[in-house]
Amino acid sequence: MRSMVEESTGAVPDPSVSASRRHLPVPGRSKESEMARVAFIGLGNMGGGMAANLAKAGHEVTAFDLSEDALARAESRGASRAASAAEAVTNAEAVVTMLPAGKHVRAVYTESVLGKAPAGAILMDCSTIDVGSARAVIADAVAAGYDMVDAPVSGGIAAAEGGTLTFMAGGTDAAFARARPLLEKMGKAVIHAGDAGAGQAAKICNNMLLGATMAATCETFAMAKKLGLDLQTFYDISSKASGQSWSMTSYCPVPGVGPETPADRGYEGGFAAALMLKDLRLAMEAAQSVDAYTPMGSEAETLYTRFAEALGGGGKDFSAIIKMIDDSWVAPA
Ligand code: NAD
Repeated sequence: MRSMVEESTGAVPDPSVSASRRHLPVPGRSKESEMARVAFIGLGNMGGGMAANLAKAGHEVTAFDLSEDALARAESRGASRAASAAEAVTNAEAVVTMLPAGKHVRAVYTESVLGKAPAGAILMDCSTIDVGSARAVIADAVAAGYDMVDAPVSGGIAAAEGGTLTFMAGGTDAAFARARPLLEKMGKAVIHAGDAGAGQAAKICNNMLLGATMAATCETFAMAKKLGLDLQTFYDISSKASGQSWSMTSYCPVPGVGPETPADRGYEGGFAAALMLKDLRLAMEAAQSVDAYTPMGSEAETLYTRFAEALGGGGKDFSAIIKMIDDSWVAPA
């Protein structure tokens, strides 16, 4: 492997050099025109904006989603609709999926993509799913003769709309080099995390850390308040001291303190607590699979389960968990 961590600003070798023979480019065609035809499956909150950005960049996007509303929105934003996932991939040079969970990804690839997409199509799953499913689907894809990456994203709906997602991709050097130009149309950074499944592993490790630091930041502000500290003053100190973290400095959970965050908008928008809980559950499943001791991640999962499910705060931004930790909280507003 060329490099475990490779920012999108780095030099990119010509994919035709490292790709296998069946992927050699047609003479006279540019790297981008090689992937002119994209099948996009899963056009929800995230996929809708991502597919629109590909259409805007000049790709011929053929879309499929089980939801008629999602399909109609995609059509109005430059995609053409297919009647099924299998039909969407029939002519595709690249396939992108953005689906809810591992079971959807496994079913879509097994039933509708592998063996249905043309030989030589590059496949990329951008959904957040369990590492085991990602590895199994990629192994099946490779056995069927395709290059494939798992390429989950960091960044929410606004980043999907704005084309500013961060992709962390897992797969061979050849698969990554082929996927990268298309991922760059939808994001601001594309990082090669390692072999198959490494994108999902990096995503859940990052989000486990994020969930734990957010919970710790919230309890710290709640305690600072009880100790009589002015919260802006405490922010000014801690954001420059050793307690500093992204949750404190860039995403402060206290309204009116630090930069503008979802806390200043009633905890609307941002990254839903329900999605944080999903990622923490994936992280705990992965921890168990490799016998990793993760007490902080486990506590974060317990806290987000209580907040998102028992107390109904799942639709709020994940920083709204401060309302549960601060005992003045009663129910999500
Ligand atoms: P979503 O529920 O809005 O969209 C998923 C779409 O997939 C839906 O439109 C659904 O109809 C469609 N779908 C489900 N099964 C299908 C099938 N068999 N064939 C075709 N379409 C099918 O979810 P989302 O918020 O867009 O998230 C997508 C993925 O991205 C998830 O894995 C999520 O964890 C991840 N993610 C989301 C965010 C976010 O802020 N929303 C951020 C980072 C990552």
